[in-house]
Amino acid sequence: AATGKQDFIRQIVREDLASGKHHAIRTRFPPEPNGYLHIGHAKAICLDFGIAAEFGGDCNLRLDDTNPVKEDPEYVRAIQDDVHWLGFEWHDLRHASDYFEVIYLAAEKLVRQGDAFVCDLTPEQVREYRGTLTEPGRPSPWRDRSVEENLDLLRRMRAGEFPDATRTLRAKIDMASGNMNMRDPALYRIKHVEHQNTGREWPIYPMYDFAHSLSDAIEGITHSLCTLEFEDHRPLYDWCVDKVDLVNSPELLAPLLAKGFPSEASKPRQIEFSRLNFNYLVMSKRKLLAMVNEGLVDGWDDPRMPTLQGIRRRGYTPSALRLMVDRVGISKQNSLLDISILEGALRDDLDAAAQRRMAVIDPLKLVITNLPADHQEALTFPNHPKDETAGSRTVPFSRELWIEREDFEEVPPKGFKRLIPGGEVRLRGAGIFRCDEVIKDGERVVEIRGELDPESRPGMAGADRKIKGTIHWVSAMHAVKAEVRLYDRLFLVPDPDNDEGGKTYKDYMNPESRRVVTGYVEPAAAAAAPEQSFQFERIGYFVADRHDHSSDAPVFNRSVTLRDTWAA
Ligand code: ATP
Ligand code: MG
Ligand code: MG
Repeated sequence: AATGKQDFIRQIVREDLASGKHHAIRTRFPPEPNGYLHIGHAKAICLDFGIAAEFGGDCNLRLDDTNPVKEDPEYVRAIQDDVHWLGFEWHDLRHASDYFEVIYLAAEKLVRQGDAFVCDLTPEQVREYRGTLTEPGRPSPWRDRSVEENLDLLRRMRAGEFPDATRTLRAKIDMASGNMNMRDPALYRIKHVEHQNTGREWPIYPMYDFAHSLSDAIEGITHSLCTLEFEDHRPLYDWCVDKVDLVNSPELLAPLLAKGFPSEASKPRQIEFSRLNFNYLVMSKRKLLAMVNEGLVDGWDDPRMPTLQGIRRRGYTPSALRLMVDRVGISKQNSLLDISILEGALRDDLDAAAQRRMAVIDPLKLVITNLPADHQEALTFPNHPKDETAGSRTVPFSRELWIEREDFEEVPPKGFKRLIPGGEVRLRGAGIFRCDEVIKDGERVVEIRGELDPESRPGMAGADRKIKGTIHWVSAMHAVKAEVRLYDRLFLVPDPDNDEGGKTYKDYMNPESRRVVTGYVEPAAAAAAPEQSFQFERIGYFVADRHDHSSDAPVFNRSVTLRDTWAA
């Protein structure tokens, strides 16, 4: 097949195609619509959709909406948006709730086979009976109900006759199993609650393992990829698939055919891979929700959030995320990766892809005294130093410039190579400037005055004089005032999730994670489209804010610094 990637999952897929076990593969990405997708999900998305594409198969997007209490259509929309943004297209968009009728019929089948029973134990009793890792569980006193009684009770559960949590439908497997998931797990619970897709139609909802395995089988999924915490669930997954045996029970699929869904049932195989985790981040949906609700961040798409909506607004590109996922690879080894892997992928992606612009974020006036007051010039700058195909742009130049305050020092520290009183510096693309005069307001430097060497333009005879520093600038009369949001890591410590000494992640928040300054950008930066990324020379990578930027009132977010400033 058309991929060189050699991870163990692709190896399995390759073998299954070579052996003829499958003629075509199908995968799915099954998020629960109970929150926004985060960077971790990007790994699952790239894997599910990527493998399908590489091997000429399909991938479905399935909203795993079996737990109505926490789910919301807002999340459903955002999930679709995120998958598209990452560059993937689904074969079918499905909801697990599309299958509620089939899953219910499957439950009746299990009852008829003697593989499931209605249990009247309370949730507390169920826990008691389940036993522990070292002690086998005890069978429910309701385990030996007749098929007729079970069927009757199940139908009355479905008809809404019983209050919440008074009964469950349980699989009849093995109360002595070393795998707790196999100790007669619940398949259905009673919950009189409105569902975002099916409304009030169902008073009972299938449990995750039952719904998930059957949804995979219904959709004809061949390889069901999920994270390692489901490894212990695989025996139950297989049990559900085998006992219901959709491939040989087309009658169970009739409700779907009636709804116009094609039926192509399979016997799917679950394969687990390790979760993606980075230090300096918190990725649990519960904590992200708390951060949003408590106002610790400005919503789900705050550029400091690890949600896909957040990092998109921060300036992460789909290609940077795919690059990160490729670099991280696929394994069964859970680990906490260094955030520099994520940031490095963005730097490498933008270094190649982002055009260069000049912007000054802490402005200091510089006046070139040997140019006339009305001097105006249009200089031509390449858009990218390593990519001629990126073309060039016009950068206006005039007598008064803004330079970066930190590029001038009255009393220079050792090794300082930029502008000092009486010293010379190269103004990027414009020539060599000498500082003759420093104007101050009290202690504060407010203006630098001096002359530009008229023979020092790039290409001129005097241009190659040895000068230690080169600084960037923007023409004061042409520059556009911009709001510049300097984002940094949200947490100060590598493991904000550790709850040692009664502290929580909220105690580790970086008070400097966002600083907003007013800067000046060259006109070709102000003209950016929302979401366009640039390298502001010598400062970092920035993106025009997706929502707030306009050419008249530019707003730029710092995506990442040029170098890793956190490295020890
Ligand atoms: P959370 O525990 O944060 O709620 P989840 O695993 O319940 O996350 P789902 O919406 O159920 O989130 O996840 C959809 C898919 O994405 C699942 O297949 C899941 O295994 C995968 N996934 C979730 N988090 C990660 C992660 N950090 N790394 C890789 N895959 C992930
Ligand atoms: Mg979850
Ligand atoms: Mg989940």
